[in-house]
Amino acid sequence: MKLNIRILIPTLILLFTISASGCREEPDLKIYHVTAELNKGETADIELVNGEIVTLSLLDISVFRDSLRGAVRDVRVRVSVDGEEITIGSGNYHLPVTTGRVKIDCPVIKEFTVSSYYRHDGELPADARIRLWPKDSPYIGPGTFGFPLEQAWLVNRMQSQNELAGLGWAENLRSTNHGYHSTHDFGGAEGMDVILAATGGLVVSSSNEVLEGFEDLPGDVRPDVVWVVDGRNWYYRYSHLNSIEPDIVPGANIEMGQKLGYMGKQGGSGGWVHLHFGVHHKNPETGRWEVEDAWPFLWEAYVNEYDPQVVAVARPRQLLWTGQETALDGSKSVSLAGDIISWEWKLSDGTIASGPVQTMTYKVAGEYSEILKVTDSKGNVDYDFMNLQVFDRDNPENQVPTIHAVFHPTLGIRPGDPVTFLVRTFGSQTGEEVWDFGDGSPGVTVNSGVVQRQTQNEGRYAETVHSFATPGHYVVRVERTNEHGYTAIGHLHVVVNE
Ligand SMILES: [Zn+2]
Repeated sequence: MKLNIRILIPTLILLFTISASGCREEPDLKIYHVTAELNKGETADIELVNGEIVTLSLLDISVFRDSLRGAVRDVRVRVSVDGEEITIGSGNYHLPVTTGRVKIDCPVIKEFTVSSYYRHDGELPADARIRLWPKDSPYIGPGTFGFPLEQAWLVNRMQSQNELAGLGWAENLRSTNHGYHSTHDFGGAEGMDVILAATGGLVVSSSNEVLEGFEDLPGDVRPDVVWVVDGRNWYYRYSHLNSIEPDIVPGANIEMGQKLGYMGKQGGSGGWVHLHFGVHHKNPETGRWEVEDAWPFLWEAYVNEYDPQVVAVARPRQLLWTGQETALDGSKSVSLAGDIISWEWKLSDGTIASGPVQTMTYKVAGEYSEILKVTDSKGNVDYDFMNLQVFDRDNPENQVPTIHAVFHPTLGIRPGDPVTFLVRTFGSQTGEEVWDFGDGSPGVTVNSGVVQRQTQNEGRYAETVHSFATPGHYVVRVERTNEHGYTAIGHLHVVVNE
């Protein structure tokens, strides 16, 4: 059965040209993907941007919920493209996959939009949104989208792509507002991590000021927020900035890569330092604001700029009870240089396990960080950490502590360089943070104090500076134990170059 499905093709509107000194090529502001919204069981013929027509069917959607809040933690979407069946994820650090003549992703399903601002006016009208690119096309116009941070990929905690907002304070088990985070929060170092413009464009709001004629924005105007509109008529939100550069004012034409300011925890940050980065545009049919998931664009920009060889992925974060079995899944890890030949988990129970997926159970509540090391066929190595918030099944009211650990800089570290380590613990009335830098040096104790919800944006992370004597990969650990005896553990992967 073929139905006539409404296809949303983003309209290309050139609002303005970016003024620049000297001559330069016109930026490639073409949009390379088409967007379709389908219900389960529906099939549609979809014209790609290269004119080819593919037949897309949405066969099934499997949704996996946690047993504490009933929130969606993982999704499997079964589709067929020109008769070839494939299963893809939805957000949650999944990149598009190639099948037949297309690259395909599913940025969102209806369940996520029940409690998120993916569509600013409510739920997705169909079961799933699918995006399709021609197989050999870039995700976004080459040279028109840059990575908005001077920071290594997945070097820090995130809440991203439909992952629940639950950093800083642990998740609230009583809250039925799940708050799937449809855009991207990148954790980092307060006043140190530089935020760059992902695209050229026009600053339409900054430091609580709005450019006349741009009052209709898809989010807050605040002292810590910068809004930029680009030649695709996409609106870019940069939030929680610690400081904004003086030339980033409404009406300013900026270039891709231009410095916007420094990362902070201003505004509704939850008290943890991060950049909130989102791309929004108006649905041409409804006139309502929607999110354009930028994950593939961010990835492509990072790859082009930084040339990573292998990337470990142990995300998204999990929420579970003591005694409950769960799977640690590192299968989203990717090698760009070869093939991944080893997934090694160094687990909190002291065991070392091989293979992309492991099962674990936790006896004691706390915040855990399981170490994943991947190695590829070229000998490249990367680490990521699976974060799990484990609540006590017998005492579900007890606050579980969470820890946010950060270091700066994250790129280009050499032996002897001073590296700043910052930490803050939420949900703990007692204790201090203890660092182990993983290089045999003595532990260092710091104290970030007690963070109160009402004053969470005040105060600073506890800071210490460390340098590494020799090149290598270091797994740095920090932990703090709260008044219930629950420990929050954080890990950081520090690469010290030759
Ligand atoms: Zn955010």
